[in-house]
Amino acid sequence: MKDFFNGVRRHIGKLDAKLLREQYERLSDELVALDTLFETISIGIIFLNEQGGIVKSNPAARELLGIDIKDAMESLAIPLGKSTKRDIDISYPIERTLEIKSVPVDSGTIVYIDDVTAERARTEEELRVGATRAVRDLAAGVAHEIGNPLNALSLNLQLLKRSTKDSSEIDECLNQVERLSGIIQGFLQALRPSKPNLSRGTIADPIKSCLATMKNLFEERGILVSLDLVGAIPSVALDKSQMEQVFFNLLKNALEAVKDGGSIDIDISSDDNDVITTIRDNGLGMNAEQVTHLFEPYKTSKEHGTGLGLMITARIIRDHGGSIAVESQLGEGTTFTVRLPRIERRIRALKG
Ligand code: ADP
Ligand code: MG
Repeated sequence: MKDFFNGVRRHIGKLDAKLLREQYERLSDELVALDTLFETISIGIIFLNEQGGIVKSNPAARELLGIDIKDAMESLAIPLGKSTKRDIDISYPIERTLEIKSVPVDSGTIVYIDDVTAERARTEEELRVGATRAVRDLAAGVAHEIGNPLNALSLNLQLLKRSTKDSSEIDECLNQVERLSGIIQGFLQALRPSKPNLSRGTIADPIKSCLATMKNLFEERGILVSLDLVGAIPSVALDKSQMEQVFFNLLKNALEAVKDGGSIDIDISSDDNDVITTIRDNGLGMNAEQVTHLFEPYKTSKEHGTGLGLMITARIIRDHGGSIAVESQLGEGTTFTVRLPRIERRIRALKG
């Protein structure tokens, strides 16, 4: 379309009436086709202007959101000029999971809304069977093969540690062994998910444990990490070790995205329904295409990445009845927002 317009623009002085009419007809056919597409496509589309005002929305957007578009946009609070993606669960008009994506364009922002209820339910099934079966069997085999010698190594190192005065080098070895077991466990977790063992607690606990474990990693690279607790933090139902995995994955990605001396800010707050944790880094950021495919398995931009971290993370959060959203800008940084339902809360109509 762009090329077509530019072509017509360049030659418009030279076009005679007949050619102009032809081009006009072609254009109006295309516009009618596009308009029909816009009106009938099952994906909801909303155009926002630079100030965030609604310019245009299609019937699918209205049908999927189930409430007034303006109210929905207000409660979704889509940031302008950034690529974002997140899932929300709604209960009206029917219970379903919507994927909300936003893409910045010259004249504003386009918001896409897709019903992904069936797809999300299917993902796990597909992971269990289908194409990943071979990977799973291989991983399980490898994990088993590596697990035993790792255990032996760890035991022997601990024995050695008892008989040594200066154990700093042995500690380092133990750390590395633990890291390796961690990787293997992560892999197995990805392929054989276990349901969370929920108990009442505060989200600050797993975050603090993670920060303690990762302290050296941050210090080595001069990365400033802040943890800000806004007000009293309400209780949530959580599986502490799974949540540690969530924050480990998110913090590790942030660590890998920032330059030496960069910063990572963690905020915990709450609203009527949820406890909200945001992890903001001032690292590499991502483009719209990366954001769109985030949370999908095996999508990695790293030489030694697995592309499994965020998939596991998203699944654990969903198993906790929560949601995860991302907001990113290339070269500026990335913010992940994790919402977990408060134990005592009001009924939610729309949660982001
Ligand atoms: P991995 O870290 O093994 O690549 P993940 O699932 O953890 O797998 O992340 C997938 C991809 O998402 C990463 O390769 C990276 O491109 C992108 N990503 C995740 N978190 C961030 C972040 N904080 N900043 C920039 N890019 C990120
Ligand atoms: Mg990762």
